Amino acid sequence: MKHDEFTLYDLKVEVIASDKPMVCSHKEGDYFLVIGENLVFPQTTSFSMYSLAALLPLLPAKQRELHENDWMLSDSVIACPDPNCGARFKITRIGKRTFSHADCTVEDIYKGNED
Ligand SMILES: [Zn+2]
Repeated sequence: MKHDEFTLYDLKVEVIASDKPMVCSHKEGDYFLVIGENLVFPQTTSFSMYSLAALLPLLPAKQRELHENDWMLSDSVIACPDPNCGARFKITRIGKRTFSHADCTVEDIYKGNED
């Protein structure tokens, strides 16, 4: 690994069913990918913005190495924010990708607490 490289997990976020019917526009099996900073929609051309809003805060954490005791590592099924909707969204790590710090930011590599 070069001096400025780091790794992130690629993610797949897939609509899964539960015992309640879905009331939004989700369809079981719909999915998108998270690759670096990008959301990639290879299979569907639309995705609920309300569901996306519920998912977005979790994605950067799921991309990164986590402590084995961290609940963010074990919990991977997220409910639709509509309380009447049975849709669930499963976040799966599907691979690892290497990035260069210099390709991602113009900031210097962090050297410790500078406060
Ligand atoms: Zn829903």
